[in-house]
Amino acid sequence: MKKILHLKPIFQEKLWGGERLSTVFGYPIPSDHTGECWAISGHPGGDCAVENPEFGGATLGQLWKTQPELFGNLPGDIYPLLIKIIDARDDLSIQVHPDDAYANVHENGSLGKTECWYVLDCDPGATIIIGHNASSKEEMAKMVEEGRWSELLRQVPIHKGDFFQINPGCLHAIKGGTLILETQQSSDVTYRFYDYDRLDHGKKRQLHIAQSLDVTTAPFVPAEPDRTVAQVGGASITHLVTCPYYSVYHGVLDGKAEMDFTAPFVNLSILEGSGTLDGTPVKKGDHMVLTANYGTAVLEGKMEFIYSHI
Ligand code: ZN
Repeated sequence: MKKILHLKPIFQEKLWGGERLSTVFGYPIPSDHTGECWAISGHPGGDCAVENPEFGGATLGQLWKTQPELFGNLPGDIYPLLIKIIDARDDLSIQVHPDDAYANVHENGSLGKTECWYVLDCDPGATIIIGHNASSKEEMAKMVEEGRWSELLRQVPIHKGDFFQINPGCLHAIKGGTLILETQQSSDVTYRFYDYDRLDHGKKRQLHIAQSLDVTTAPFVPAEPDRTVAQVGGASITHLVTCPYYSVYHGVLDGKAEMDFTAPFVNLSILEGSGTLDGTPVKKGDHMVLTANYGTAVLEGKMEFIYSHI
């Protein structure tokens, strides 16, 4: 069933959020502290409406359950991937996610979480936290006990177009001045490791030090990037990652390309420019799902985009 589902994004206000979702993408954000655009989501915490009139206002999460054939009849209760755009004006807390096995035992059968970040833009000198500098869990626990956070946390500079894969067990934090597109498993299980001793409405936010130490991999091993570039007609397609949960690609189109979107479903986000997808106009800030085994699609125009599939 060859369909393009057009999704209506959902916005989440956050203490650390800003205004770039409006100034860069033109979205109708609720306030000047808007941190997240849930662009493609069937998660109960923000389930995107499908705008195609034929689906009568149903959400992606509802269609996943009522019309599984649109998504290749995959097993599972929930649309498995979640695409967000995150505008961090301030630093996010340092966090870590468990893997499926740990979450299943310790979080009532939940899934773990693997995620990845494509840097859409950042301020000069912006950094992120990814990984740590302890050689073992014992050393990490000691550094935490002694409050040696800046020594422990591995801070790296970032630039527009950088890409980071965050596997379970990898400490991470987005820092201020960063706009990213995140592709992730649709899961919520997050352990907060450190929050810079900040106060939120007069109180420190809850930390999960024991669980964080439990699940954090030590020593830290960076995920190996696999950036391979292919020319497909007028499009330059960069493969960013393939892991057990998703594959993610970045594309730059100038002209026309016949793309193969054969997969149970494909998430497509337009980052820059405009054009057409099989004759349907698409533009910067649009997010779509191409349904089961969509096959060949003709993209035309001048656009930058990210797409992913399981
Ligand atoms: Zn995370």
